[in-house]
Amino acid sequence: MKSLRVLLLEDSPTDAELVQACLDSGELACSLHRVETEEDYLTSLVSLRPDLILADYTLPGFDGMKALDIRNKRASGIPFIFVSGSLGEERAVATLVAGASDYILKDRMQRLPAAVARAMQDRREREEKARIAGELDAERKLMRALQDTARALIIMLDAQGHIVHLNPEAAHVLDQPRLGLLGSVFWTSCIASDHVKNMRHQVQMALKNPRLANQPWRARTRNSRTVMWSVSSLESGSSSRVVLCGIDITDQQAAEEKAYFLDNFDSITGLPNRHLFLHQITQRSAQGATKNLLAVILIGIPRFHDIRDSYGEDVMNQVMTVLVQRLRQSQEHSHLLGHIAENTFALAVELADDKELTEFVPALLEMLRKPVEFESNHFVLKAYGGTAIWLRDASDPLQLLQAAESALHSAENSQQGYAVYRSLISHEARQRLQLEGDLRRALQTGNELLLHYQPQVDIDNGEVIGLEALVRWQHPQWGLLLPDKFMHIAEVCGLMRELGQHVLRQACQQLLEWKEQGLTPPTVAVNVSASQFSSPDLLSQVQTALQEFGLDGSQLEIELTESATMKDPHSNIAIMTRLRQLHVTLSIDDFGTGYSNLSYLKRFPVDRLKLDQAFVREIPEDADDLAIARSIIAMARQLQLEIIAEGVENVEQMRLLAAAGCRHVQGYYFSPPVPASACRHFLEHPFPVPDLGLAPPVRSAMS
Ligand code: C2E
Ligand code: CA
Ligand code: CA
Repeated sequence: MKSLRVLLLEDSPTDAELVQACLDSGELACSLHRVETEEDYLTSLVSLRPDLILADYTLPGFDGMKALDIRNKRASGIPFIFVSGSLGEERAVATLVAGASDYILKDRMQRLPAAVARAMQDRREREEKARIAGELDAERKLMRALQDTARALIIMLDAQGHIVHLNPEAAHVLDQPRLGLLGSVFWTSCIASDHVKNMRHQVQMALKNPRLANQPWRARTRNSRTVMWSVSSLESGSSSRVVLCGIDITDQQAAEEKAYFLDNFDSITGLPNRHLFLHQITQRSAQGATKNLLAVILIGIPRFHDIRDSYGEDVMNQVMTVLVQRLRQSQEHSHLLGHIAENTFALAVELADDKELTEFVPALLEMLRKPVEFESNHFVLKAYGGTAIWLRDASDPLQLLQAAESALHSAENSQQGYAVYRSLISHEARQRLQLEGDLRRALQTGNELLLHYQPQVDIDNGEVIGLEALVRWQHPQWGLLLPDKFMHIAEVCGLMRELGQHVLRQACQQLLEWKEQGLTPPTVAVNVSASQFSSPDLLSQVQTALQEFGLDGSQLEIELTESATMKDPHSNIAIMTRLRQLHVTLSIDDFGTGYSNLSYLKRFPVDRLKLDQAFVREIPEDADDLAIARSIIAMARQLQLEIIAEGVENVEQMRLLAAAGCRHVQGYYFSPPVPASACRHFLEHPFPVPDLGLAPPVRSAMS
């Protein structure tokens, strides 16, 4: 055991020895440090940090009571015992009152060990109490801090339901002053009246069965917040308390509700969306039709876009509301109504037979097509209908919906605007889907898509002045496909950009190869679709392709269709100008089929027009076509644009066109589009030109 450090205030060394002997006899391990003066006493208090002070009452230069006073002020925890000659009753009491633990008369010194032991024991107990009190205090502070800052509501009730305690969050959520709530009856001041009965019952249950205590339940407060509560009981002495702990879940609940809404309903019409509609027809089809047919009818209204673009969102929503009202009117037959895509509504309808179906849908479409009158506006909407029938067309609800979607798709292209699903359609659709997948793959590998080249010939000397690159697809299953079989798919599936880039690169690569073979190829013309032309990266695609194969822009020509250039003439002029800065030749393809605005045509920085085949085909039989061809040629010359005629198949066409002033032609007469390898011959040798009986060309430098 550690020995006690004892500070002894004693002027007599003999008495000190006596004290030491006495302590030793009590088997208390002590180390004694004797001081006589106030100064030594003060220093030892600090340096020795004694466990115990023993002091004589009277000392020559100091005084025991004063020493006690110092201890009280500086080291109140250290037990202090007087060891003194006779003290007298009164003084002895005074020492105890002043804070001494005990006093021992020098002639009764044998009491000392027991007194020391008790004083030390007292000290330990005092310290333990202080420690516990400190811990309790800290815990209380922590609890208070937790209650004050926690985002939980804490409310304590007495047995009669009065609020005896609540934390700031509770007052905040209940939106009432804390002091006003204290003492009020919880059920009336905090809980919405229609929840009180239920909640009291829940509290009773929870208190009776503590295992239920942790099961939360919802209750509304008077200011309609939703709080999730749990309850527990607290017995303290004779009084019992109920502690309610709650979390405000109003916002979370609203968010959940909103998410549910967004997941399942169309945000404009509030009708079930595709997801929910599909779920509903799943349930409906599981129940089986009570009548003979359960049909899913999709209604496509394609013009919503236009209305929004021209009149704004509000007007579009109003028009939609009218249509939804009309659709609802048809609900005597219909169990379900949904809004499954921006332009598509869906109905699930029970009908007796096909006859009823063929009457129902056209009547519905007619009703939807009636003009919508709205704020002096008059909207006439197109409406298409596509139908598929449960079990006849599909045996699972998703397939049923897809079948109806496929029917709707063909309805858009049909005359009556209405189609019933036929497996044939699905066959076509499947084929289209397969082609789409194949095209994606072909674009990735790049080796099934190839270019054929058709020469453009100067009829004065048979020289090839240009080559038009035309894309082909060597399909592993279907053989060589022409653009009309896959261009549309590329366009609707957003693959045009990639396809265009592929064609550009391949044309440039071919030019380089011909040059490397020692040939002098003329300009190669590449077709650019409207979507490609308006895409922001056309320019960089052209630049990159030229750079990659070390070509100059003058070796490339870009053909734009007339309709594409007229779509947005202003920004097109800008793109054309940039292409011209790269020395690329620009021509307008299929000229004469669009509706060119001549004032723009004058401003377009293009080099030539390509007279469309439509005006060439019927020459010489069709006098009108010839007249149009002649005036287009004359106009091109006036605008100082080059002109080339497409689709020239015979000598007579060539003669009449040439006579009208068009000396450049492209067509089967000279050559159909051929693979690159077949071009070598006409790149080296001009075509023989038939005698057209024309006056020699006006132009110079012709041999
Ligand atoms: P286009 O640009 O008007 O191309 C001329 C089309 O007429 C080619 O059809 C060509 O084979 C055909 N043709 C040429 N001479 C004659 C003739 O004397 N008589 C008849 N009846 N036809 C002739 P093709 O190759 O089937 O291309 C069709 C269209 O596909 C092209 O019309 C063009 O608009 C588009 N196209 C072809 N390749 C590409 C391409 O790489 N990119 C883009 N965006 N479109 C392309
Ligand atoms: Ca063309
Ligand atoms: Ca053309």
